[in-house]
Amino acid sequence: MNKFNYLIIGNSAGAVGCIEGLRSIDKKGKIGLVSEESHHVYSRALIPYYLDGKIDREKLYYRPLDFYDRAGVTLFMGKKAVTIDVEKREVELSGGERLGYGKLLLATGGKPIFPPISGLDKQNVFSFHSYSDLQGIEETLETAQNVVVLGGGVIGLMAAEVLKRRGLSVYVIELADRVLAPVLDETASRLVEKAFQKAGVKIFLNNTIQHVHGTHFVESLTLKDGSTIPCDLLIVGVGVAPRVELVEGTGIEVKRGIMVDKTMQTSVPNIYACGDCAVNYNFVTGEIQPLPLWPNAYLGGRTAAFNMAGVEREYTLGTSMNAMHFFDLNIINAGLNVTEKNAGNWKIVQCLDESNNLYRKFVLSDDGALKGYILVGQINRAGIFLNLMRRKIDVREFEQELLDENFGYSKLPAQLRWQLLKEDVILGVV
Ligand SMILES: Cc1cc2nc3c(=O)[nH]c(=O)nc-3n(C[C@H](O)[C@H](O)[C@H](O)COP(=O)(O)OP(=O)(O)OC[C@H]3O[C@@H](n4cnc5c(N)ncnc54)[C@H](O)[C@@H]3O)c2cc1C
Repeated sequence: MNKFNYLIIGNSAGAVGCIEGLRSIDKKGKIGLVSEESHHVYSRALIPYYLDGKIDREKLYYRPLDFYDRAGVTLFMGKKAVTIDVEKREVELSGGERLGYGKLLLATGGKPIFPPISGLDKQNVFSFHSYSDLQGIEETLETAQNVVVLGGGVIGLMAAEVLKRRGLSVYVIELADRVLAPVLDETASRLVEKAFQKAGVKIFLNNTIQHVHGTHFVESLTLKDGSTIPCDLLIVGVGVAPRVELVEGTGIEVKRGIMVDKTMQTSVPNIYACGDCAVNYNFVTGEIQPLPLWPNAYLGGRTAAFNMAGVEREYTLGTSMNAMHFFDLNIINAGLNVTEKNAGNWKIVQCLDESNNLYRKFVLSDDGALKGYILVGQINRAGIFLNLMRRKIDVREFEQELLDENFGYSKLPAQLRWQLLKEDVILGVV
C-alpha cells in the first residue's frame, strides 16, 4: 500500500494552496493527491472568460503542466476517494486501492445544486461549474439559439452575460424578486437588472420552471407564471452545496460544511479541510460559515499545510466578497449585505447616481467599524475598504470621504494613512 505523509483529496484551489504551503516548509515529505476529475488543475472562475473567447484553453490552467512533477506530488487522477478509515489512517479509492496517510486534507469542493424539477436530467442541461460542463455547453452551442439560465445569482448571471455576448437569445429565471439578492441590496440589484435588460437579456423574477418540454433534449419550458419560452440549452446555476459525502460515518463533524477550527483542522485529529467543502472563519461576523470563494480555498489550504507540517497558523482573513462585471457594469461587494430594514443601530452611508450607474454604500457598526460595502460603477481601490474592514478601523471621522469616487489613501487622516501604508509595505500589499 502506498503511504503518504500528506494526502490531499481534490485538485483545485485548496489542493494547490496546500501543496505550495507544504513545499515551502517540507521539501521532502511524500505528498499524494487524489482527483476525481482527470484534467490538470484549472480555474473555475475563468470558465466564462474562455467561453467569451478572451482566453484559450491552456490559460484555464491554474498552474503550469509540470507543477506536480516539480512539487514531487504523486497523482491519482480520475480516481474518487470513497471511504476514509480514520483509525487506520487510510483512504480507499474507487477501484479498491488503499492509500495510507499521516495527515489528510479534504479539499473536495462543492457540487452544483439541482432543484427537484422533473426533466433536468435531459442532455442539454448543464451546471456552470466544471470542465465537463464546459465541454457539454460548447457542443450544445454549435446549434443552440435560445439559452435559459435558471438562477440569477453570481454564477447564473456570469453564464447569462457570456452567452448573450456570443449572440444568443438569453432568458434568466429567478425565484426571488430581484437578482443577486444574497449579495447585493435592492438598489444594486436593480442596476444589474438594468444592465442585463439593456443588453437584451430577458429576466423573469418571482418565477421558476413549472414544466420541461422535450424527450431527450429540452425544447421549451413553461414557467410558474404560465409563460412558455424556447430552450436549446438550459444552465442550472442556483448554487453550490459543500461536498461532504466522503466524511459520512467517519465522525467528522459537518454542519453547513465540514467543520474546522481556525487552523483548518476538522473534529478528527490529523484530518484537515478547506475550500467549498468546509466552513471558514468570517472576520466580519466572527462566525464560522461557508465562504465558497477561490482565495478562501487557496489560503485555507495553505494554512492547513502549515499545521499539517507542524507549524501553527490560523486563517482569519476570509469574508464574503464578490468582484463582478456584467457588460460594462463593475460591481464589488464585501462583508455583510445590510439594508435599511435590518440595519438596527448601524449607520448606512451611501450615494446613488442612477443615470450614470454609480452607487456606493458603506455599513458602519455602532463603533464606526466598516461591516460591509457595495460599489457599483466605480470600483477602484476597493482593497482599501477591505483593509479598513479587516482592521476594524473607526471610519466615522472620514465617512463622507468614502463616497468620493477618487477615494484613496490620500483621503485618510495622516496618522492612519501612514500606519496603514507602513503595515501594508511590511505585508507586501502595496
Ligand atoms: C463559473 C465559476 C466562476 C467563479 N468565479 C469566482 C470568482 O470570480 N472569484 C472567486 O473567489 N470564486 C469564484 N468561483 C468559486 C471558486 O471557483 C470556488 O470557490 C473554488 O473552486 C473552490 O475550490 P476548492 O478547492 O474548494 O474546490 P473545487 O474547485 O470545488 O474542486 C474540488 C475538486 O475535488 C474533486 N473531488 C470531490 N470529491 C472527491 C473525491 N471524493 N475524490 C476525488 N476527488 C474529489 C472534485 O471533482 C473537484 O475537482 C467561481 C466558481 C465558478 C463555478
